[in-house]
Amino acid sequence: MAKQPEFEVPKLGKKLVTPKVNVGAMAHSKPYEARPGHNEAIGYPGELIDNWQEVGIKKLGQLVKGSRALQVYLDSCVKCGACTDKCHYFLGTGDPNNMPVARQDLLRSVYRRHYTLAGKYLPKLVGAREFDQEMLDDWYTYFHQCSQCRRCSVYCPYGIDTSEVSMAAREIMDTIGKGQKYTNEIIAKVHKLGNNLGLPEPALADTLAGLEEDILDDINVAVKLPLDVKGAEVLLVTPSADFFAEPHIDGLIGYAKVFHQAGISWTVSSHASEAANFGLFIGSHDNMQKTALRICEAALELGVKRIVFGECGHAWRVGYSFLNTLAGPFDFLDSRYPVPQHIIEVTHELIQQGRLQFDKTANDEKRVTFHDSCNVARASRMGAQVGGQFTLPRDVIKASCNHFFDMPANTTGEATFCCGGGGGLLTDDLVELRVKGALPRMQAFKEVNDKHQITHMAAICAICKSQFAKVLPYYGFEMDQIISVHQLVGDALVFSPEH
Ligand code: SF4
Ligand code: SF4
Repeated sequence: MAKQPEFEVPKLGKKLVTPKVNVGAMAHSKPYEARPGHNEAIGYPGELIDNWQEVGIKKLGQLVKGSRALQVYLDSCVKCGACTDKCHYFLGTGDPNNMPVARQDLLRSVYRRHYTLAGKYLPKLVGAREFDQEMLDDWYTYFHQCSQCRRCSVYCPYGIDTSEVSMAAREIMDTIGKGQKYTNEIIAKVHKLGNNLGLPEPALADTLAGLEEDILDDINVAVKLPLDVKGAEVLLVTPSADFFAEPHIDGLIGYAKVFHQAGISWTVSSHASEAANFGLFIGSHDNMQKTALRICEAALELGVKRIVFGECGHAWRVGYSFLNTLAGPFDFLDSRYPVPQHIIEVTHELIQQGRLQFDKTANDEKRVTFHDSCNVARASRMGAQVGGQFTLPRDVIKASCNHFFDMPANTTGEATFCCGGGGGLLTDDLVELRVKGALPRMQAFKEVNDKHQITHMAAICAICKSQFAKVLPYYGFEMDQIISVHQLVGDALVFSPEH
């Protein structure tokens, strides 16, 4: 039965419509603040410090000095307006502060006031503003209405990246003791136990053993899900949602089947049992590094030759773009493979080599579309070819099912719409924002559905999968219409007797 919302769910129509501006429409939407223990555990003051304005302004100066990109973003906006209707949170809410340029201006106006001559002497003329309580409240509200998806930057003639501005604002807020509960609590769990869920090693071992039994019951093949096996070829670093959540778990089973069938030895590590790296969302280099270092430590301890990431969007951004600088060098690994690799790259290569065979009819009851996840689409690559992050997942889907249909071109690839739950916003205290922010993707899903009677949307991001499982019912779809790409792979894979 459809969920009864406590807010008005946007209506799907024939096509996406730019909403009327509705000032303050989402001013009430704020995530829970972190408790002192959450903030302190990741290196920040427990509560808002007394001299927060002074410290916050100083931190802003340090961030701008340390990042030429941030300075360019703050200095170069010409208010052309090209980004205004590109953010899913504006399209879903009509709140003008969710226009990317307005969101940036919350920070830019403080930067102007304190770090530009014009702002110091003619503040009103250049839109410079103080970092006062009202401003801090606006920052907390609206920088937690940005999923750091980077869609706006694709349409900005100057490439201004609002996600970087949002990360800077969150880092400043953490520095003065105004952290967000969801992200900070999770980062602390990873530092303590190795994963977002706080799953200790015995629970992980039980879960993996249970999955092995399920697979054996299901297909009568002894597919293993090994934990902490020294000398394995591959260390799989995957989002911890893969160990327990639906539909993620079927993706994990798919990876296991691929490794099994290809004869590649692999292992999960209980020390680095998390691909997600929420340090990215709060703009914290130190927390990103601390999380990434666990992967390096696990790889060394287990003596693996390769590191493979499971289906997780922002984890792949951190892995692809930053893992080597955060936790490298990885010169102890097999130099024939990139560090890290994505599971889609592994499966794609095995398909190219003819080492995986599929019975595509096993997925014949499914008519599938694919959701490009933001961090994969706009912040990383896959494979050796430009655009591999778009073609490789589609190649893998088409190799494992007969009925694939893309959503409208202005909603896929580089132009993809965020699921609405990325960037540290996948929390129940932000459900209204998540539902409304999902509108553009839900509209595109409806359009491909109207044309091709789609049954499933596949994705390669743990956050997208959790988000869609939550929001699909709000728009009249079923929560189990979202699936992992490796579920399709696992369900169609043909096992040869020698394995
Ligand atoms: S990065 Fe994404 S969520 Fe943030 S303002 Fe731009 S389009 Fe909106
Ligand atoms: S598209 Fe770029 S330059 Fe134009 S208003 Fe938006 S951020 Fe500013």
